[in-house]
Amino acid sequence: MHLTESTWTDAEDAETDLALLPVGSTEQHGPHAPLGTDILTAEAVAESGAEAYDGEVVVAPAIPVGVAEEHRHFNGTLWVSEDTFRDYVRETIASLASHGWNRVIVVNGHGGNVSALREVCGQVSRRGPAYAVAFTWFDAVDAPDMGHGGPVETSLLQATDGELVHANRLDDATANGADGWGEFEHGVNLAYDVVEFSENGTVGDPRDASTERGEELLDAASNGLADLLATVRERER
Ligand SMILES: [Zn+2]
Repeated sequence: MHLTESTWTDAEDAETDLALLPVGSTEQHGPHAPLGTDILTAEAVAESGAEAYDGEVVVAPAIPVGVAEEHRHFNGTLWVSEDTFRDYVRETIASLASHGWNRVIVVNGHGGNVSALREVCGQVSRRGPAYAVAFTWFDAVDAPDMGHGGPVETSLLQATDGELVHANRLDDATANGADGWGEFEHGVNLAYDVVEFSENGTVGDPRDASTERGEELLDAASNGLADLLATVRERER
């Protein structure tokens, strides 16, 4: 059940304590992929995970702005501080729990949100009012070439929102992007902002993307999420 499309009476009738809360980011993804990539991918995985799960689950609307200051030099990128982000996620989870949906999986599409989500889900779970975990879809699938706006995200977008990927900009995305994330020396990432190591914000080669791989990734992520829903449903708390 998607809250966005349901009435409050539908919500009252929902017989589940499970909720999915998609969390994204509005940030550059190179010249070829939209600023909303991490929102669209988190929503797509949440939606297909809810479909793959054998049971009822409430799907909340996505939180669209996350921890993304490192992308600040690229126009259109939006961000909030980690404190604001954690507060917003915690209070949103608390409002889900107030309706009885107190087993919450945050479905995350953005790497910059990961550590803040781990902390806030831990806080919520230790002190109440819900048990919450964060599922970052690209950590749940085989994606060694993740990059940023690279083949993994671009493939998933091609499968779910193909009209938003600019195929004629893929050569440029690769030529003026970076091979790897960060600027490491002795294990230290010397760069704080993406512009320090990638001219156009891309990391990885999105020319390796394909719709077929995107469909496989979506399947793998949504099956993983469906399994996790079953586990979270049974977990003692
Ligand atoms: Zn992304």
